[in-house]
Amino acid sequence: MEPFCLIIDGGRVPTQEHFEVLNPAKEEPAGLAPLGQKKHLDDAVAAAKRAFGKWREVPEADRQAACMEVASKIEENAEELAQLLTAEQGKPLNGLGSRWEIGGAVAWAQYTASLSLPVKVLQDNEQGRIELHRKPLGVVGSITPWNFPVMIAVWHSIPAILSGNTVVCKPSPFTPLSTLRLVEIMSEVLPQGVVNCITGKDTLGPAITAHEGIGKIIFTGSCATGKKVMVNAAETMKRLTLELGGNDAGIVLPDVDPKEIAEGLFWGAFINSGQTCAALKRLYVHEDVHDEVCSELVAIAENMKMGEGTGEDVILGPVQNAKQYDIVADLAASGKAGGRVLLGEDPEKYRDKMGGKGYFYPLTIITDLDNGDRLVDEEQFGPVLPVIRYSQVEEAIEKANDNPSGLGGSVWSRDIAQAREIANRMECGSVWINKHGMIQPNAPFGGVKSSGFGVEFGEEGLLEYTDIQVVFS
Ligand code: NAD
Repeated sequence: MEPFCLIIDGGRVPTQEHFEVLNPAKEEPAGLAPLGQKKHLDDAVAAAKRAFGKWREVPEADRQAACMEVASKIEENAEELAQLLTAEQGKPLNGLGSRWEIGGAVAWAQYTASLSLPVKVLQDNEQGRIELHRKPLGVVGSITPWNFPVMIAVWHSIPAILSGNTVVCKPSPFTPLSTLRLVEIMSEVLPQGVVNCITGKDTLGPAITAHEGIGKIIFTGSCATGKKVMVNAAETMKRLTLELGGNDAGIVLPDVDPKEIAEGLFWGAFINSGQTCAALKRLYVHEDVHDEVCSELVAIAENMKMGEGTGEDVILGPVQNAKQYDIVADLAASGKAGGRVLLGEDPEKYRDKMGGKGYFYPLTIITDLDNGDRLVDEEQFGPVLPVIRYSQVEEAIEKANDNPSGLGGSVWSRDIAQAREIANRMECGSVWINKHGMIQPNAPFGGVKSSGFGVEFGEEGLLEYTDIQVVFS
C-alpha cells in the first residue's frame, strides 16, 4: 500500500512515519496517511505565507477563474475522489453518498467562484470620499471533521482563496486521504503554496490554532473542540468561524399528511446515517398524528439498505469510527431504557448479521421520550431518532428551544403561514419548512448559541475571510 504524502508548496512531501486509516465498513486499512509533525505545519504555513504575498495582488476576476478551474478539476477526478471517500468514510457511492458529496463540492466551488467583493463607496461629496475595502486575512487554517471531508474542505478553502487568502487544510485523522487528494488536485491549477494540506494526529489542531503565522481559523467539528479552538486562538487574535455540533429539532403540526412528509423526515434525520451536523436529531410530533407519522417513518426506514458503500444498491453506510459507534450505542441504550422502540434491532446481533465487521448500527426510532432524556438532550450523530409526542404547539416550541445547540430546525405543516410564525420563534441559524437540512451555496449557513458563530456560503460567508479597511480621502 503506497503511503499518501502531505501537500505543501504545490508538491507531495513524504513523511517518515504514517498512520493507518480504517475503512469503517470492514475495519481494514483504507490507506496510509502521512504523520505530519509541527515542522511540516511550519513549512506549510511558510509556503502559504509566501504565496499570499502574490495571491492577494491577483485581480479578483483571475481568482474567480482559478476557482472555476478548481471546480472543473474536481469534476474530472470525481469518481476517484468518490471511491476514496467511500473507502475511508464508509458512506455509499450512491444515494446521498460519495458521488453526491463530490457533486456538491463542484457545485459549491462553481457558485462561490461567481461571488465578488467590490469596493463600496460610503460617501462621495464635497466633504470627501469614503471607501470600504475588503482585505484578505493572510493564511487561513481549515480544520475539518470526518462526516463530509471533501465537501467541507471545499466550503472552507474556496471562499478563502477567492477573497485573496491562502490556506492550510487539516482534515480529521479519521478521513485524511480524500482531502489530501483533493488538495493535490487543486494544486495542479493554483499557484504554488496557495493551498496546502497537512495530516497527523489530533495534536496538530492546537498547533494550528496557536500558530503565529495563521490569521484565521475556519473550524467545523464538535462543540467541545470548538471551545478549545476559541481559547487557543485568543493569544494571536485570530479571526474565527466556528461551525459546531447541532441537535436540530423538527416540529410536526397536527395538520400534516403523514404519508406525504415521511420521506422528508426520514432523509432529514438519516442522511449520511445521521452523521450530519444539521440533521433532524429530535422529532416533536403532535399527538393527533404521532402514531401515523411514526408508522410511516418506520415503513420507509425498513426498506433502506445499509451495507458496505461500494455496493451499488447500498443507501446507508456504517458509523464512521469506533468512538462514534460507542457514543451512538450508549445514547440509543439510554433511549431504549426510557422509551418505546419502534424500530431497532439488537446492535450486537445486527453487527453479526452484517458480517461481524464494520461499525454498522441499525436504524433505530424510539418514541415516548422527552426533554431530560439523554437521547433527546445530547447530539447522537448516528442513525438513531428520538420522537417526542406533544399536545400543545407552545410546549413543542419551548422544548425545541430548550437546548444549548442552535444549528437548524424544521416545521412541518400544510399551513405555511403558521409554520413561518413558528420558524421565526425557533432559536437556530436555519429553519426549514416541510424539509430539513437543505443547505445551498447561495444561502448563509451557521449556528447560534453553542452551535458556534459566523456563517459560511454566499456573500456573508465570503466576508468572513476579510477584514474591513476604510479609506478616507
Ligand atoms: P471533532 O471536534 O472531534 O474534530 C474536528 C476536527 O478538530 C478534527 O480535524 C480534529 O482532528 C480536530 N481537533 C481535535 N482536537 C483539536 C483541538 N484541540 N484543536 C483544534 N482542532 C482539534 O469533531 P468530529 O467528531 O470530527 O465531527 C463531528 C462533530 O462535528 C459533530 O458534533 C457535528 O455536529 C459537527 N459538525 C458540524 C458542522 C457544522 O457545519 N456546524 C458540520 C459537520 C460536523
